[in-house]
Amino acid sequence: MREALNSIIKDSDRIKTENIEKKYLSDNLGRKVGEAGALVFPISTEEVSKILKYAYENHIPVTPRGAGTNLVGSTVPRKKGIVLDLSLMNHIIEVDEETFTATVEPGVILEDFQHYVEERGLFYPPDPGEKRASIGGNISTNAGGMRAVKYGVTRDYVMGLEVVRADGSILTVGGKNRKDTSGLGIKDIIIGSEGTLAVITKCVLKLIPKPEESVSVLVGFDSLKSGIESVRRIIQANINPTAVEFIERKVVQLGEDYLKLEFPLAEAKAYLLLTFDGKKREIDSNIEQLHNVVGQSGAIAVLPLEDKEVAADVWRVRGVLVKAVEAVSEQEPLDIVVPINQIDTFVNFINELEKTNHIRMISFGHAGDGNVHLCIVRGNRTDEEWEKDLDDVLKIIYKKAYELGGLTSGEHGIGISKQKYFFRETPKANLELMNQIKDAFDERHILNDGISYVFS
Ligand SMILES: Cc1cc2nc3c(=O)[nH]c(=O)nc-3n(C[C@H](O)[C@H](O)[C@H](O)COP(=O)(O)OP(=O)(O)OC[C@H]3O[C@@H](n4cnc5c(N)ncnc54)[C@H](O)[C@@H]3O)c2cc1C
Repeated sequence: MREALNSIIKDSDRIKTENIEKKYLSDNLGRKVGEAGALVFPISTEEVSKILKYAYENHIPVTPRGAGTNLVGSTVPRKKGIVLDLSLMNHIIEVDEETFTATVEPGVILEDFQHYVEERGLFYPPDPGEKRASIGGNISTNAGGMRAVKYGVTRDYVMGLEVVRADGSILTVGGKNRKDTSGLGIKDIIIGSEGTLAVITKCVLKLIPKPEESVSVLVGFDSLKSGIESVRRIIQANINPTAVEFIERKVVQLGEDYLKLEFPLAEAKAYLLLTFDGKKREIDSNIEQLHNVVGQSGAIAVLPLEDKEVAADVWRVRGVLVKAVEAVSEQEPLDIVVPINQIDTFVNFINELEKTNHIRMISFGHAGDGNVHLCIVRGNRTDEEWEKDLDDVLKIIYKKAYELGGLTSGEHGIGISKQKYFFRETPKANLELMNQIKDAFDERHILNDGISYVFS
């Protein structure tokens, strides 16, 4: 394999066939580690195309990789294939201020891109918790994040893609047009497909003018129930928050311990953390209305975080929660989504299940869009106990989520860790159609076979 790859990538430093570092064989959690015959770092679409053509002709599995921050095992390579790491394709090719678009390579890191456009008075709204993820990875998982409640998710900001199909052929879908009913939406099938359909090599992204100001507000409640109940009122009041996150006090404590920081309103049992952005006058008026709305739901305190440092610390605690739980014990992270009117029912169900099944479960997440992040904590269980107890509880949790009209994943994707439950709950006809689409893109199943919806 080395010889063939050398003929495509002349710079031998960009090909590794021995002593491949473990991080390239896994995801962010590092629990599942795969095997690869080669790790390559292409720097152009042409190289990606030639590598895929070689792999396709020789039936070699390929695992596309961005920054490897996924939590679902979707970058765990299989059967000694090729890990195709896109991190060196990391150039911002163009910011077009006339069409409000940017064209970037897939390895551009989200936070670098956000800063770059913000310095030019523009704004890229998708804002998932892990800012060191790549744009290509964000598109492949249709990443969501904190601002989805106002601005939508990554899909809403992808206008065009250049992709390389499994056989090496290059395809351009979409572009700089704001509207498109010209044939099937191929771009939208590729977005969120977890690297199973094609490798993204160029992305045209939609930008908007940068909001003038942004203010976060922390609201304390004496119960999670009243906090979550107020979310519906907040949305109904049309005060247009950018983010609405919920966190329980017991969860905040983990973040405080991890970061050695103090979170305000320590007397509360649960919090809503909101952001408002836009023009100052508009923000002030929305925050004033927020006081009335949450007051009706029994909020015990409303604290606008005017001090930027305090606001940053509060958001750091929110952003670090997955890592903070990991620091205490191994855990299984879920990101179930339910209709927004079912969040309190779902979270209450989880709290009851925690008591009856004696397994610790920590929930927090995007209250404004029904996306509940749930960490199931292993504690000191043996491997066998953990496998059994986790499986028992996951079957119950996913069944309940689907009963409430929910879905397996709101933003992290299926990968390999959620596949079993996704297969159980998804109608067979839907799965079969997804696999027919896979066949149409990649007949030999070399791209991320066995990941997500793909039967291996
Ligand atoms: C602390 C923490 C917080 C997080 N918070 C959020 C959150 O709020 N919202 C959210 O949505 N996610 C969140 N995530 C998950 C993760 O960051 C996202 O899934 C992210 O989009 C993955 O991007 P990546 O570049 O790391 O992709 P990777 O992990 O490298 O890959 C993810 C998937 O995309 C495929 N892929 C990557 N690049 C390409 C490409 N160029 N072409 C084709 N396929 C490709 C891979 O094969 C894989 O299937 C969080 C993760 C962590 C660790």
